[in-house]
Amino acid sequence: MTLPLWIDTHCHLDAPELAHDIDVVRALAAERGVRLCVLPAVAADHFEGARALAHRLGDAYALGIHPLFVAHAQEGDLERLDAALTQWRDDPRLVAVGEIGLDFFVPALQRPPLRERQLHFFRAQLKLARKHQLPVLLHTRRSVDAVRQSLRQIEVPGGIAHAFNGSRQQADHFVAMGFKLGFGGAATFDRARQLRLLAREMPAACLVLETDAPDMPPHWLYRTAEQRADGQPQGRNTPAELPRIAQCVADLRSLPLEALQRIAWDNAISAMPRLEGLLSSQ
Ligand SMILES: [Zn+2]
Repeated sequence: MTLPLWIDTHCHLDAPELAHDIDVVRALAAERGVRLCVLPAVAADHFEGARALAHRLGDAYALGIHPLFVAHAQEGDLERLDAALTQWRDDPRLVAVGEIGLDFFVPALQRPPLRERQLHFFRAQLKLARKHQLPVLLHTRRSVDAVRQSLRQIEVPGGIAHAFNGSRQQADHFVAMGFKLGFGGAATFDRARQLRLLAREMPAACLVLETDAPDMPPHWLYRTAEQRADGQPQGRNTPAELPRIAQCVADLRSLPLEALQRIAWDNAISAMPRLEGLLSSQ
């Protein structure tokens, strides 16, 4: 039997938590069938590093300014993004603009001036994605409707609503606009009823998989505050968890793992078409 191959569509391989043993982390993921990771940058200072790491590991990358990094971003960072997208236009490993979006999780982020600042950076980056004709990797935490409103005004070539956690109606809206929905560790928790219902019932054509490593640990790595106080450390989420997350999603949909693999693989390429050339050339 051959090992099913996976694409981790959202994985922060350049995160400090993974830096000390990134080669071991990536090798373990490869051993478990993770063929390719998409590494979204989060700030202009990380663009070079994200690109270099994706090249070194044989992965893909996206360039963008994450909503949680907007507070410390400079106006000139948007020009740096434009310049980088121009300079590396012919790099087959550059597959999207991301991670971009809006985050209204914390009250301070929902209010002026950070709300407006996030919107300004998000909309400017959507315009860059449109200009460079690249799909987007979207962060939509507590902001699904606001993200959608911007997408309706600034049309981009599709992409992924990563770690999607909205209602069925909101999910349908994204799919109708041509976006895929990223499912990851959060969908492995029994208590995530609404999310698991989406993972089970959304049309197969909209589904992609991700770990969002090192964030969003699946349930088997998660420790409650109480357990942590007891000295049990939180397990570290890495792209090696993707096949087990995939098994959870396959179980939710009552699909054989191989069938889910084909669906998720094709959808990832459809969301980020440059992956096709990359995967066939390496
Ligand atoms: Zn992310």
